[in-house]
Amino acid sequence: MQQLMWFRSDLRIDDNTALSQAMSRGSTIALYLVTPGQWQRHDDAPCKVDFWLRNLAQLSRALAALNVPLLIRQCEDWNQAPAVIAEVCHQHNVCAVHANEEYGINESLRDRCVAAYLAQQDIAWHSHLDQLLFKPGSILTRSGGYFQVYSQFRKVCYEHLHMALPGRVARPVAQAPTPLASDAIPQAVDGFAMPSEQLRSLWPAGEEAARQRLERFADEQIGYYKDERDFPALPGTSQLSPYLAAGVLSPRQCLHAALAANRGEFDSGNAGVVTWVNELLWREFYKHILVGYPRVSRHRAFRPETEAVAWRRAPEELAAWQQGRTGLPIIDAAMRQLLETGWMHNRLRMIVAMFLTKNLLIDWREGERFFMRHLIDGDLAANNGGWQWSASTGTDAAPYFRIFNPISQSQKFDPEGRFIRHWLPELAGLNKRDIHDPASLGGLFAPAGYPRPIVDLSRSRERALAAFRNLGQEV
Ligand code: FAD
Repeated sequence: MQQLMWFRSDLRIDDNTALSQAMSRGSTIALYLVTPGQWQRHDDAPCKVDFWLRNLAQLSRALAALNVPLLIRQCEDWNQAPAVIAEVCHQHNVCAVHANEEYGINESLRDRCVAAYLAQQDIAWHSHLDQLLFKPGSILTRSGGYFQVYSQFRKVCYEHLHMALPGRVARPVAQAPTPLASDAIPQAVDGFAMPSEQLRSLWPAGEEAARQRLERFADEQIGYYKDERDFPALPGTSQLSPYLAAGVLSPRQCLHAALAANRGEFDSGNAGVVTWVNELLWREFYKHILVGYPRVSRHRAFRPETEAVAWRRAPEELAAWQQGRTGLPIIDAAMRQLLETGWMHNRLRMIVAMFLTKNLLIDWREGERFFMRHLIDGDLAANNGGWQWSASTGTDAAPYFRIFNPISQSQKFDPEGRFIRHWLPELAGLNKRDIHDPASLGGLFAPAGYPRPIVDLSRSRERALAAFRNLGQEV
């Protein structure tokens, strides 16, 4: 019985639940839908689309070794997905379609429509848990609700992990050859500019590249993760987020690599491993939030009362933030890292997000959208979660009165100014004291060609406090 594997954000053959299920049931063909209109509507970054295409090319080669042809179909958006998939099924006599679950509101709607459309034609639909360690709905409060507090969520995740670790699925074995040929993978998609070769070289495509990165991190760095992860000048974090977001790597593979570095323990022993596993659980938490509280998928604040914040319309300040010319070195260096590499260090994501939403008092949705348009690891759940955390509008968010000061953050997490010097060569001549706050040098000594701060930090802090205090939030 012919099976169809529909690849989406799971671009790998190793430890791929849906692929293994499909291939265990019969001869399998694979499909990927190129949907530029949908991607535009989701603000998917050109570098991310390019990363998908490069990984698809690798995936196609890996599938060919299993004698699974990969078909590519293009349609404008997901409204057309049911008909396009049904047509492929009819052409190739497919009796069942397999896919791994995705959790955004549009993704869920798309899958329900595809399943219903296929059912009318007697084609079975199977969706599988794969992108997460725990199925949304399986980690709940005593009263049966979704958790809103990460530490409580994590505690229940630990209980589940103690009972049974999510296992990896076996790599499928090659099936008998089929006469059907794979389609060519597009090199580019209209509307998505090709990123620079320099950016591409930072993120090599394919499962092998992802596996090597994971192994190197687990062998050499994970033990230092707790102490080094907040310092953007160090290679302290795994930089696996683009691979996890595109599904070139699974969270189970990450979990098992971490456990192997800590004698099978995840909540005791090596502090670096424990901290890293906790980050994987943040990823998990925000995806569960997406399912439990779908309003966050609709650009709504998690905490409804914060919808009333009087955000400022300040297009020039927004543009300065976007282009890395705010006059605050740590902010500008971080934004340049984003623009040039498609990625930003987590500590910096928090600093720039807090600066935009508190010091500039600009709506977090502006920042969320800009990040999505530039991140190679852009992921609705994590991005929305991170922005709403920073803006104090989200679940388990930073309290509104705890506003990061970008200069003290810079002094603390880039003490030598190495990160700033790398991204802002115009400040390279400043010593490690002045580099965090060149404006303090005064007119004559301020470095030429670098702007003065666009905002006064203490006055803008007071303005943000007042804006939130007016909502009547408890301190
Ligand atoms: P590591 O520190 O090595 O962590 C391992 C993995 O855990 C990451 O690859 C990621 O999958 C997951 N993870 C780590 N921290 C978080 C977190 N706070 N929330 C959710 N998952 C996490 N992450 C994204 O993957 N996509 C996004 O679009 C995204 N947008 C963000 C926006 C803001 C404003 C903030 C504050 C954070 C955002 N994050 C996002 C979370 C985090 O910054 C990145 O996951 C991390 O920087 C990726 O680097 P890494 O792979 O080296 O992470």
